[in-house]
Amino acid sequence: MRKALGLFIILIFAAVIILPAIIIEGISLLQPPVQVQSGQQLVRVYFHQGGDIRIIPLEEYITGVVAGEMPADFELEALKAQAVAARTYTLKKIEDARSKPDDHHPGADICTDPAHCQAYADDDVLQERWGLINFWRNKGKIQEAVRATAGMVLTYQGKLIDPVYHANSGGRTESAAAVWGQDLPYLQSVPSPWDKEAPRYQAATTFTLEELDRKLGVDLTSVPAASLAPSGGTAIRVLERTATGRVKTIKIGDRTFSAVELRRLLDLPSTYFTWLVQGDCITFNTTGYGHGVGMSQYGANGMAREGKNFAEILTYYYRGVKIENR
Ligand SMILES: [Zn+2]
Repeated sequence: MRKALGLFIILIFAAVIILPAIIIEGISLLQPPVQVQSGQQLVRVYFHQGGDIRIIPLEEYITGVVAGEMPADFELEALKAQAVAARTYTLKKIEDARSKPDDHHPGADICTDPAHCQAYADDDVLQERWGLINFWRNKGKIQEAVRATAGMVLTYQGKLIDPVYHANSGGRTESAAAVWGQDLPYLQSVPSPWDKEAPRYQAATTFTLEELDRKLGVDLTSVPAASLAPSGGTAIRVLERTATGRVKTIKIGDRTFSAVELRRLLDLPSTYFTWLVQGDCITFNTTGYGHGVGMSQYGANGMAREGKNFAEILTYYYRGVKIENR
């Protein structure tokens, strides 16, 4: 009798714990396509650091994206705006991945590399970043922003938009045409005065001439110091500016760079810069943080502080868009 009871307990244990674990593990190994389960879309997320793909329900995924992309102490309406932008981007990536798998992460819709898709922070990362008490408070606040906007996306003429955003525009956002050469009606330049009050508004990045030579493949160490000066110098010269005053193309030594490329090579905060020569060093003084196109996150926070809601923030930075439920 006792033996039978023991066997029964083992069987129950197998049915309740082991069997579901095997099934779930088996499912994740198969990497199923995106499907709707109990009304919620699933996202196939490629974790670029570990190289694994996890299937995450959409709204749970969006919570991790907002946590990864925007400081949790931002205003609730700014977090809601970020949630709608993140959801729009995600659904667009899912659409794209269905029609043509992404070469960077075949079998997944999106990745956690902010340089390629968008950042995502899971609970382990957030607990480490915030500590346990702040974790529950911050996560609750972000979940509230995601829940309040559940299913909402941004569209232009019925299609999901490319909801690009950046940290701080430096006072005026940039058009997509000026930065990437592609004119999009909803990504035009708008004033963003709130950014001037925010951190990351201005920064200085200093390089020695040797460092610049190495990073850019030029030879500034051999030119006279006077030719490096921003006014009248010939060795470093801005060839073209965008309508907002950002650098568009610049000649450095005997090479010409697009400012976007220069920003990437030197890891500059933005393309909105001047420079200063001191001895054998050059300091780039930048305004703003990020490419400057679309929504400014600090601008969104400034608008929210002034009492604007997430819809007002989104339709301000993305001109002519609609907020729809998907
Ligand atoms: Zn990616």
